[in-house]
Amino acid sequence: MYDVIIIGAGVAGATLASKISKYAKTLLIEAQDYRKEIPIRTNVFPEHNKPFIKEEINWDDKVIFPCPHIKSNYMSDEFNGIIDSTEFGIPLGNMCYTENILQEFINQLEQQGGTFNSNEKISKINRHDDYLELINNKGESYNTRLLALATGSRGFDLQRSLGFEIPDHYTGALIHLFGNEDKINENLEYNYVFHINPKISSMGPFYFNKGKERIATGFLGGKNESKDAVIDKLDRILKNYKPIQPIIEGLKYDLSTAIVGDISKHPIKSFSKDRVLVLGEATGLVTAFFYEGLLPGVACADIANNTLKPLFEKGSKFSRLELQKYDKEVKRVLLPYFKNGNALEYLIYNEGSHVKSLWRIYTELLNENKLARKYIYEAYINHDLANHNTSNDRYVGEKWFGKLPTLSKITLSPKFFKAMLL
Ligand SMILES: Cc1cc2nc3c(=O)[nH]c(=O)nc-3n(C[C@H](O)[C@H](O)[C@H](O)COP(=O)(O)OP(=O)(O)OC[C@H]3O[C@@H](n4cnc5c(N)ncnc54)[C@H](O)[C@@H]3O)c2cc1C
Repeated sequence: MYDVIIIGAGVAGATLASKISKYAKTLLIEAQDYRKEIPIRTNVFPEHNKPFIKEEINWDDKVIFPCPHIKSNYMSDEFNGIIDSTEFGIPLGNMCYTENILQEFINQLEQQGGTFNSNEKISKINRHDDYLELINNKGESYNTRLLALATGSRGFDLQRSLGFEIPDHYTGALIHLFGNEDKINENLEYNYVFHINPKISSMGPFYFNKGKERIATGFLGGKNESKDAVIDKLDRILKNYKPIQPIIEGLKYDLSTAIVGDISKHPIKSFSKDRVLVLGEATGLVTAFFYEGLLPGVACADIANNTLKPLFEKGSKFSRLELQKYDKEVKRVLLPYFKNGNALEYLIYNEGSHVKSLWRIYTELLNENKLARKYIYEAYINHDLANHNTSNDRYVGEKWFGKLPTLSKITLSPKFFKAMLL
């Protein structure tokens, strides 16, 4: 009998495993074959993620964080809306080689006596009075007092079978471009480029995340497109889309390594039931505009750990009532910050023909308004997101609205007004 079984060794599950295995008998199960290779990911890891992993991860570890995140470019067809951290203070965060942070969490789990099973998929869960029984794809079973479901957007059947809702999900594509450090820096000045062109995706960005000797690129937010169609589109963009050609030039990539998968957003209502918690992207806790999902992963894990530790100490039965503290705390900590993404999503991704012009005006605003840039900088580095200052977002929204042409102001004023209330 395990104290806790965690399904899914993405950032949410692996972070929780490293924390909870300090005091509970823990099994972490991952469907992909991590012993062979943890799939590489180059991600933006903002400073505001740091408090949730401060005991486990060394912020100066260059294997995990190859370089600081100095500059973001919110780029339109006409403007570079650059957030340059040197204008205000410390870096925006670190760039993250996510496969290495996952490996570090798994090492810690194992050093603390926990077990990691990779290349093993859980296909069925049976509920019993005092425990849950998990059955894998080889027909083997495990019993546990508590289950943490951290299956991202790849475990919806399990999630439904336990009576949870599933979040909305969209398609994303990812590929890595490789070159030496000098070439990468020559091609791309910014650590992060967030670019919107509705012809690529009307529901998400085309992006670049720059590491030291590799850049991750792709687009997010498509709906109802086949895997082949998405890869074909990515190929055409990389070969022909003019604004990004200087970034791609001279770098190596192999289209057969492109990954297409779902990304979820719009949180489900409840993240817990008797003896079960849901963490990370599986809850739909991904910011609706920027698709930021590592923050919710580490935050859910930290909050789950803080909720569960006293419950283990008192020999709890992990009732729904006791676990609801986790739901409440996750919502308290994350949802104020999520409001900004909800408003931006409502304004940009749903506005049909206005997408391009709204985005252009937003990037122009960042380009010319230092206070707007400062407020975005502050959100990146804020260690207390529960107290995220939504009036700063409102300031940016008002200045943005103020820049619209008169006719657009008339058409879009109800939308801007509603966005402020989201
Ligand atoms: C292309 C792209 C780029 C992104 N870039 C960023 C970024 O720069 N910064 C950022 O903050 N966020 C980014 N995100 C979002 C972020 O990466 C994800 O939201 C986050 O990694 C999700 O973590 P997770 O642990 O919740 O889920 P996942 O990482 O999806 O992990 C879930 C794991 O569960 C396993 N699993 C599922 N079902 C089972 C089962 N039945 N049995 C066993 N194992 C199972 C899966 O194999 C998987 O490994 C990006 C997302 C995409 C798609």
